[in-house]
Amino acid sequence: LVFIIMAAGCGKDSGSSNSSERKAAKDINHIKIGVSIGTLKQERWQREIDMFNDYAKKNGFQLLVQVADDDPQKQVSQCENLINQGVNVLIVQSIDANACDPIVKEAHAAHIPVISYDRFIMNSDLDYYITFDSVKVGEVEAKFIVDKAPKGNYIWLKGGPEDNNAHLVAEGQKKILQPYIDRGDIKVVLEQWCKGWDPDQALKNTENGLTIAQNNIQGIIASNDGTAGGAIQALAAQGLAGKVPIAGQDADLAACQRIVEGTQTGTVYKPIAKLNRAAIELAVALALGKDPKSAIDQGLGEWKTLNNNFKDVPSYFVDVTAIDKSNLYKILIKQDKFQKLADVYKNVP
Ligand code: BGC
Repeated sequence: LVFIIMAAGCGKDSGSSNSSERKAAKDINHIKIGVSIGTLKQERWQREIDMFNDYAKKNGFQLLVQVADDDPQKQVSQCENLINQGVNVLIVQSIDANACDPIVKEAHAAHIPVISYDRFIMNSDLDYYITFDSVKVGEVEAKFIVDKAPKGNYIWLKGGPEDNNAHLVAEGQKKILQPYIDRGDIKVVLEQWCKGWDPDQALKNTENGLTIAQNNIQGIIASNDGTAGGAIQALAAQGLAGKVPIAGQDADLAACQRIVEGTQTGTVYKPIAKLNRAAIELAVALALGKDPKSAIDQGLGEWKTLNNNFKDVPSYFVDVTAIDKSNLYKILIKQDKFQKLADVYKNVP
């Protein structure tokens, strides 16, 4: 009966833009899920596409993936394409947080719910958000550095300003840094965004900061492993790699290698397998017309709400872990098998 009522409300010309009036799929084999990935620049995203594909294959449904190569316009047209192909649910990892409202509007016109994946779609009638706590990520990154360098000159490298996560990460970093700045213990000599989370931007910004301070830098706050890598390259050119604490996020292979070599202090491990699982389980539940709140496996994370400047969006949070030399092997290699021992220690004699 429930199914009939839902189906009745979702005729093409029902005129409503409410995604909740969509028609439930018959069973899992009749589901089509669309995934729009904004960038493949960091290694995590390809891994996440592979995870989505594996899950779809194992569970016998169709998954359509499009990659927009950091082009927000391309992302919009690729999503239009997925909508036209009749996906039941759309999962979007956005490039520009404020450029995705047309995607949500078009999806809703076709009664397709939209799940924001890792990056929040802002100012939009978004349905769900699956994420890590990016404020906490920033706090962990900054704590690594102030613990090692409680006083001195700092370079502060923020992520891509077009990505809401970069702002949340910066908010977390600021929470930790501000008391030190207010006491006059820490002086930020250069504070810069790195558009597109681009390591080259981070390299150039770090060069500038080093020049301003005549290499007298005690700490660098970076926002992810890629930008940390760019900054460490700039440090290395001045013979300072390993002498200035710096951390990132993602537990990228290159970052793990730098941690064991001693040129990077730490990283924030975000268990993408859990994030991915939560997103796809939610998508399947939505497609089948099941209760979304109880769709996700116990223990992956927890439901909260987060405001995207348009509304409170039901948001699912997965926890993160601080990683340094002391627990990298135990957590990333042995426990979660996120990286391989031989790869991480490849450059260590
Ligand atoms: C993600 C990070 C990633 C960055 C660059 C952010 O939105 O949360 O994990 O490093 O984008 O892709």
